[in-house]
Amino acid sequence: MGEYVNAAEIFGENVFNDKVMQERLPKNVYKKLKKIIAEGGDLDLQTADMIAHEMKEWAIEKGATHYTHWFQPLTGTTAEKHDSFITSPLPSGKVLMSFSGKELIKGEPDASSFPSGGLRATFEARGYTAWDCTSPAFVRQDAAGATLCIPTAFCSYTGEALDQKTPLLRSMEAINEQALRLLRLFGNTTSKKVTPSVGPEQEYFLVDAEKFMQRKDLIYTGRTLFGAMPPKGQEMDDHYFGTIRQRIAAFMKDVNIQLWKMGVTAKTQHNEVAPAQHELATIFSEANIAVDNNQLVMQTLKRVACQHGMKCLLHEKPFAGVNGSGKHNNWSLMTDDGINLLDPGKTPHENIQFLLVMSCILKAVDVHADLLRESAADPGNDHRLGANEAPPAIISVFLGEQLEDVVEQLISTGSATNSKDGGTLSTGVKTLPDLTKDATDRNRTSPFAFTGNKFEFRMVGSRDSIASPNIVLNTIVAEAFRDACEVLEKADNLDEAVHDLIKKNLSEHQRIIFNGDGYSDGWVEEAERRGLPNIKCMADAVSALTTDKALKLFGDFKVFTKSELESRAEVKYENYAKTVNIEAKTMIDMASKQIIPAVIKYATSLAESINTISAAGVSQVSVQKDLLEETSELLKEAQDALNNLIVTEEKAYEMPDGAEKAKFYHYSVMPAMEALRAPVDRLEMIVDKEMWPMPSYGDLIFEV
Ligand code: ADP
Ligand code: MG
Repeated sequence: MGEYVNAAEIFGENVFNDKVMQERLPKNVYKKLKKIIAEGGDLDLQTADMIAHEMKEWAIEKGATHYTHWFQPLTGTTAEKHDSFITSPLPSGKVLMSFSGKELIKGEPDASSFPSGGLRATFEARGYTAWDCTSPAFVRQDAAGATLCIPTAFCSYTGEALDQKTPLLRSMEAINEQALRLLRLFGNTTSKKVTPSVGPEQEYFLVDAEKFMQRKDLIYTGRTLFGAMPPKGQEMDDHYFGTIRQRIAAFMKDVNIQLWKMGVTAKTQHNEVAPAQHELATIFSEANIAVDNNQLVMQTLKRVACQHGMKCLLHEKPFAGVNGSGKHNNWSLMTDDGINLLDPGKTPHENIQFLLVMSCILKAVDVHADLLRESAADPGNDHRLGANEAPPAIISVFLGEQLEDVVEQLISTGSATNSKDGGTLSTGVKTLPDLTKDATDRNRTSPFAFTGNKFEFRMVGSRDSIASPNIVLNTIVAEAFRDACEVLEKADNLDEAVHDLIKKNLSEHQRIIFNGDGYSDGWVEEAERRGLPNIKCMADAVSALTTDKALKLFGDFKVFTKSELESRAEVKYENYAKTVNIEAKTMIDMASKQIIPAVIKYATSLAESINTISAAGVSQVSVQKDLLEETSELLKEAQDALNNLIVTEEKAYEMPDGAEKAKFYHYSVMPAMEALRAPVDRLEMIVDKEMWPMPSYGDLIFEV
């Protein structure tokens, strides 16, 4: 039995949060900082010095010896460089502990090897990190001791974003400005700020560390490149929400403690559909903090798994034939005084505003479906999107029966006079039905579902940062709001104009609404008829970043410049090519050094036993002979496929960098990998388990 934990007591104990700041900072300093957190602006050096000093004193009390500017380069994870607080020794030989305002505000990590897509010439390669005071600093405790982590943005000296946080903050400003503009039109004069709220649900797998270490594919690529399905798959569904086993429970307890201490609201935990798969959801927060916290969740899952003799797999598809992992990104828009723009509200007035917001979001998603799809593109997610589990690669919106009914009435009659449950609604309007009721009956196959008072974007990959999807969501909705405001601000009769605009948005973008089964073949055909894009792989998705439409969108709202978009596309292509390259090389290595030799050994043992039995004059060796024949055939097939993969992989090196190379990896190298996997997986079913050179799926998934 472990010790009991008082969650309320430890929550946030390692966070330099509002309470700590209020207690420790001089009043005027605290006020200045609060103002900047709320409204933006620059901190003067003197104030920064005082904050830095208090932050350091506080961190040292928590055992911190080092500080780090914690940032999010375009690798999908976080990066950090540690500096200790010590100064150079005094004449006495002693050192002091120091941390200046300058060190707090700005850092210069030697980070020239992070991907920048050509944005940084080498002569200015350093780039710098800048404190993001809207996401609180925290102390992280791990094997390195305790470290003061300062969330920062990472930019080039010319101010170009080299990270995820900078454009995210820019997109939050864009949606804030346009949403406030819209609220003012509806007579709201009190809300000061609109912030996107985000609640991610993180899926992951746990496997035994010893078994993990016996598989080169897991070590080098995070997923299995070979592996036959065990006789017991997930078809039994007995794992989903099943009792959490003791080993896992102990792990989850530690994860929660570590997260709570860092102020991360770990809330829900349960087993997922696939065996050995689990989920952790945090409570929604401001997008920026949610993105940072999700990174902490991923890192903590990995770290704590190791401490428990396990490995946490964040890959989107660690096992073929078993459900993959994703990350549902719940998104809504909240004002500083507690209004959720995605909540239908109780008065007709609120309802009309809600319908306008809704119609704008439909427009945004329809117009920029390619960008949303791209935002979830990640090498691992290619194995998931469009397979029979995760949302399909086609973007559509699920509204629920009641809301869709309202939409149809609005389009056909111009005003919805009835809602399905009998309450009246007309667009000189009464009230909308209770949409939250509808949300209980959710469509799990929809990539973008309205769930009562938020949208749930379900395409995001489990390993990916949630920054990109939120950057896109914030910006495309800002654009739709802006378009709406431009029309409505000029209108003589606002009521009529709002009504007309809702109808216009809905009629023009109704094709994006789909409430049916997103996994069916019928939907693929239907979507094609509707002209909705079906972008099946990352290599084909990335070009969405640099279309004229995207340049205009991101340029209008100063979220990305043209060169930033081009650099991001480069980074993505390169990332894809590198990922598949490593996978292909790992496969070649495993097949030639481990698998084929093992199969040969097995075939030899069969041949020997056939000889021995025949020599003894017994004629019944047909089973062994059949096995040997089948093994030899598959062995030949595997060897040929291996040779072909080696040749194809070499060809990839000759491809020009960028789209062409990425596409070659997708369309030529991946199929060559599959062709090798197929005979090997069949061989795994035949060859004596004792001789198979690595743990099987069964060993990995059912014996954690
Ligand atoms: P599910 O059935 O999908 O698990 P939950 O109600 O448990 O739904 O919520 C899932 C996630 O959505 C959680 O992270 C939760 O905090 C978040 N969430 C709830 N309300 C909102 C909201 N208004 N905006 C953003 N996220 C939200
Ligand atoms: Mg969900």
